[in-house]
Amino acid sequence: MEIPGYQPFYLSSVDDLRAELTRLGLTLPVDDDLSPLAQPLTVGSKQIPNRFCAQPIAGGDACADGAPGELTRRRYRRYAEGRFGLIWVEKTIAGQPVKPAQLALHAGTLDAFRTMVREIRAASPDQPILILQLNGDNPEQLLRAALLAAEAGFDGVDLQGTSAALPESLTAIQKRAPDFLLAIRLRVYEAVRGGFGVSATDYRQPDLTEPIRLVQRWQDHGLALLNVTAASPGLRGADRAMKAHADFEIPDEHPLMTLHRQISLAQALRAAVPGLPIVGSGWSWLRQFVPHVAAGTLRTGMIDLVGLGRSALAYPMAPAEILAGGQMDAAATCIVCQACVQLREEGAAVGCPIRDPAVYGPVYRNMRRFDADQLLAGAKRCHLCEAAPCVAASPTRVDIPAFIQAYRQSDESRAYEIIRARDPFPELTARYSPAWLESEGACIETTLTGTPVPILDLQYAISWRARDRGATGVRIPPTLTGRRVAIVGAGPSGLAATVRLVELGYIVDLYEQSDRLGGVPTRVLAAHRQLDPRPEIDAILQPALAAERLHVHFGATLGKDVHWEKLRTDHAAVLLATGLWQERSLGRPHGVLGALPFLESPPATVPDRVAILAGGDAAMDAARAVQQRGAKEIFIIYGGPRSELHWHLPESWFATPGVRAMMSWEPLGYETDQEDHVRGVRLRHADLRLETVVPVELVIEAMELQVADDLRPALALPVRGVYIAGALVNGGASVGRCVAEGLAIAEAMHRDLSS
Ligand code: SF4
Repeated sequence: MEIPGYQPFYLSSVDDLRAELTRLGLTLPVDDDLSPLAQPLTVGSKQIPNRFCAQPIAGGDACADGAPGELTRRRYRRYAEGRFGLIWVEKTIAGQPVKPAQLALHAGTLDAFRTMVREIRAASPDQPILILQLNGDNPEQLLRAALLAAEAGFDGVDLQGTSAALPESLTAIQKRAPDFLLAIRLRVYEAVRGGFGVSATDYRQPDLTEPIRLVQRWQDHGLALLNVTAASPGLRGADRAMKAHADFEIPDEHPLMTLHRQISLAQALRAAVPGLPIVGSGWSWLRQFVPHVAAGTLRTGMIDLVGLGRSALAYPMAPAEILAGGQMDAAATCIVCQACVQLREEGAAVGCPIRDPAVYGPVYRNMRRFDADQLLAGAKRCHLCEAAPCVAASPTRVDIPAFIQAYRQSDESRAYEIIRARDPFPELTARYSPAWLESEGACIETTLTGTPVPILDLQYAISWRARDRGATGVRIPPTLTGRRVAIVGAGPSGLAATVRLVELGYIVDLYEQSDRLGGVPTRVLAAHRQLDPRPEIDAILQPALAAERLHVHFGATLGKDVHWEKLRTDHAAVLLATGLWQERSLGRPHGVLGALPFLESPPATVPDRVAILAGGDAAMDAARAVQQRGAKEIFIIYGGPRSELHWHLPESWFATPGVRAMMSWEPLGYETDQEDHVRGVRLRHADLRLETVVPVELVIEAMELQVADDLRPALALPVRGVYIAGALVNGGASVGRCVAEGLAIAEAMHRDLSS
């Protein structure tokens, strides 16, 4: 039989849709009366207020510990505002997260889930039913997480695990929480040879014998709701026949045939397992005609609930508009462009860049920014300036036009060597430096077009690919100077000095008080920016460790585990690069914290109103962290103009609801209550000389770092052969500047020791 081919959307009326179904020989009811969508549905002891279900799509936007992130919470609030009667919250690991940005429910994230549930319920004009999809390998794990889900306020769970273990899990949960709604989302037809729900003789034909048997068994163990999904077979071509469609491939068949298969499978399950309500999926291609087919399938008893996935991401208000006005706005619907699928495939935060461009447009562009075509297009915009201002503004003085030229000439190895000559940690520098205050801010393209050449993206991509080729390790010189030096502090300055001194022929003892290398970027910022600098650091230092030119001593605090006298006796020179770990403070009543300790172990929740006293590098991370933890109003307070602020987030972040940027307001001190708990920050405007008090319950001080009190005596010692670098000298500058200063001090030490 001729398979009607894939068609982009082309229908302009409900009658067109009816005519097309007839032409294709498909039986799907198309109704003008949409009232079935508004009918409540009772499932177990719960009442779902209407027939719209928001399907689970993993958002990839959870916090490091698995708690819902700000975008996660926003997504579900929007579904609630849009009046979805059933909100099926996405894949959540029962226990600790196994991948970054994945939801995970455990004792440590319970409060954050509880907060999200509260927000969802507050945002909905109805009383939606909330189901949490839980993934776990064993019944005990699922039971524990299901009980936490009930505690967090969910109405039920969707259990995802090995099918053999599910009956036991269903029974155990039902016993402990009899009113809890037990659901399963099941792909009933895998559409590959030997797959689940597939005919033994022709994988292109479903065979529901096994799915029905399983679902009947689960129903006997308490299953109360089934969410049905199915793959589409590759209908043409031997290579396609071996695998199911990837979502971003053009399907082999007409989308109405795909929809018909999805609904028919759901209908078959519904008929075979009476009394088990079914959620039907696969509607997106229909755009504004979704409600007409959905109402028809409900009226004729093919399904019980209409599950919207991508359509819900694009158009979360659809149910509210259909229920109120009987129609959808064609211009707001999902256009099945697959941008959300690309985001998911790339591990980025998932949403609709087309219909929600303010939030997901930047996410999509960010995802694409390291693609070869994007990087090359960016490199081609470089004017290869003489006396380039970008170089002058770059703390490491990397020869930017030279490496961009090499990249344009497809010579990535040379491009890397040009970068490496001035910066041994170019990935770290590229990802943690405030680009607009340094090279990119000075790029002439910033002046000419408003968009700089993506210098740091190019540097980053070239450098990580060099690491992949094994080209980044310390270059071990054949001869030694015969001298041993000590470096205290393994932040960017200490590490840069280490690399240069090893390459100059020294043996280096590196002392670090924590258990890891990298300083503030690794110890504090990595968890908040989801970017771990350690693979780069490890790759660079590994040859020095293997050749015993470098000895790293972790857990070594100056004055406690390691002493000045010993350092001086055992080494030709000592470099002190401990960094700064103490924020400048206006006083520390209860509720006032330094940014670094806050970021190192942030609490699960924060009060509604939080002030960030900004200026230092950790202010942005602190602001993001409090936002993720539920702060409703965040005051970013800074004594100067915004252009001077160390800030890596896009300007648009300041327009996020609840964020108040108070620039040119100098913090003077705190208002406290009788228990010495902070109640407000006293401020004075730098130009207007006005004074005011901003009422807050938490203040995070991130103004600037200063020398820790216990280090001051050591720094006061004028000892020959002792050098100081990094934040102790520059007061906590950018990573690039610390790296540059580490290299410079290493060369100064070498000069002194050679003279
Ligand atoms: S200033 Fe901009 S355009 Fe000029 S060399 Fe630097 S990156 Fe290229």
